[in-house]
Amino acid sequence: MILTITMNPSIDISYPLGKLVIDRVNRINNVSKTAGGKGLNVTRVLRQLNEPVKASGMLGGDFGQFVRKHLDEEGINHDFSQIRSETRNSIAILHEGNQTEILEGGPEIRENELNTFFETYKRLLKEVNLVTISGSLPKGVKKDYYSTLIEEADRQNTKTILDTSGETLAKSLQGNPKPYLIKPNEEEISQVLGHKINTSVDLKNALKSDLFDDIEWVVVSLGKDGALVKHKKTIYKIDIPSIEVINPVGSGDATLAGLTYGISNRRTPEEIMRVGMVTGMLNAMNQKTGHIDVQRFNELFTQISVNKI
Ligand code: ADP
Repeated sequence: MILTITMNPSIDISYPLGKLVIDRVNRINNVSKTAGGKGLNVTRVLRQLNEPVKASGMLGGDFGQFVRKHLDEEGINHDFSQIRSETRNSIAILHEGNQTEILEGGPEIRENELNTFFETYKRLLKEVNLVTISGSLPKGVKKDYYSTLIEEADRQNTKTILDTSGETLAKSLQGNPKPYLIKPNEEEISQVLGHKINTSVDLKNALKSDLFDDIEWVVVSLGKDGALVKHKKTIYKIDIPSIEVINPVGSGDATLAGLTYGISNRRTPEEIMRVGMVTGMLNAMNQKTGHIDVQRFNELFTQISVNKI
């Protein structure tokens, strides 16, 4: 089984408006509220691939209960640790082709709450062979906390797949042991290396940095341009067919789910990369974030090319 960790989940609220009128009342009829967070997108895609998966992290208050209820309704296995403060709301206002987001910072975590979560985490690790960690850390948690999670997983012989950014990513790369796979984008690579990446040559060179030496997989997804991947000492460019994109939000999470699926099922390196690309594309072809049409899996799988560069 795979364990997915979302430390700062949210209720994702979507407000589709014809036009957003500033400094006036904007009324909305078809509001959608879902259990949100990058790790939950990963969970949904793994479930659709028929991979046994359990979601964990921290939830609090009535909004936390709302998330649990929605996960139950979706049939998602979950075991979140309880905190006192309310889980946050993330609001996306969709207007005239734009998406204006209002994101709450989320609850502040107390030391004893983090300890309780860690006990849950240690228990859950006994049931799984892989753990994915996605997204930001809530307030009150030190930026190097993911290193603690990676270390405990390693102690229990479990590989860690990490998708985070900024200082949290930088600190996680300084820790030891390293994550088994990371999925930074170009901007995140620039941030951790401290210099700008302008060309594909820059990116290839960046992947050769000794910062990534002990990380088995570094996957830099590039939207419609596929991905650049470092696996052990080899660098690959993945090209993908052009598709009809409906909603690309969460494609990176879907890619992470595909890569995790491939690794968990001991597929070959080339197959792991292909699965990751297919799940990312299928998410982009779907209106709903974290939803893929598995019927179209094989058709896309054969159209992907993986080349050593
Ligand atoms: P993120 O959501 O983390 O920014 P990307 O935008 O790179 O991640 O998307 C992840 C993967 O999803 C890509 O590698 C690709 O396989 C697929 N994908 C995303 N956007 C597109 C697109 N416009 N066309 C085709 N595939 C896409």
